[in-house]
Amino acid sequence: MKIGCATRRFCEQTEENTWAVLKEAGIEYVDGGLGEDGADGLDDQLMETLRGDFGAAGIKIWFVHAPFVNPYEISSPDSAKVELAIDAILACVKGCKALGGEGVVMHGSEHIKEPETAGSHMPRAKEALKRIVEYAAPLGVTIAIENLPPGYLGCRSSELLELTDPYDVDQLGICLDTGHANLSGGEGVDLIKDVAPLMVTTHLHDNDSTGDQHQLPGVGTINWDDVARALVATKYTGPVMFETAVSDSFEEMVRQMPDIATDLVARLRSARG
Ligand SMILES: [Zn+2]
Repeated sequence: MKIGCATRRFCEQTEENTWAVLKEAGIEYVDGGLGEDGADGLDDQLMETLRGDFGAAGIKIWFVHAPFVNPYEISSPDSAKVELAIDAILACVKGCKALGGEGVVMHGSEHIKEPETAGSHMPRAKEALKRIVEYAAPLGVTIAIENLPPGYLGCRSSELLELTDPYDVDQLGICLDTGHANLSGGEGVDLIKDVAPLMVTTHLHDNDSTGDQHQLPGVGTINWDDVARALVATKYTGPVMFETAVSDSFEEMVRQMPDIATDLVARLRSARG
């Protein structure tokens, strides 16, 4: 199984040792952010620098993570924020293509503070996704909408299925985030089962079910045998992408990833019988 690691913004790490640490541990793929300042700054020069850094380190880009905190929200009631978000996501699509990545991960909403307005986010998200997929699909860039914790659009599998329904899976699929699924109240493993056939990338992490802690798998309360059983229907063959937060030592955390991935593969094999 190929292994990857979701990092912070690509451009913040070019002077650090991140890529060498990952390569040393046998981790070939990275996800990272582009465009947190909107569409600005994602110029050809930056892409060339990043391509050079990744090439030198022997690292491949998997997905680019689009900006997702205020003001970048595709389903905001504020149309200016929607336009900012779409511009930034399209810039990420262009950047992803230039870096040789597969696709762009994005969120359906910011945290929805007034639950009574939650229903109004769906039509706005659908409209924005239509524009984003129309731009990305001809470039061969897959859009992945991520399952999120409660209080966000995309917490429930029904929402994710509704958002992806009009599209082929290589145009718009799901980024399955295991930690967020563990927070989604009653759904949990059922959500994973529902969206497994639509998975185009994954964020692997754990928590104690009280918050989005981005722990290494095995540390929290996720039952990884249940996850493996829920993933039986997936056709996903891409890398497993760890999206864990740095605790004491980034190197120490990264060194544990290959064994955790091997353990997950064994559970998947046994789930498949
Ligand atoms: Zn995630």
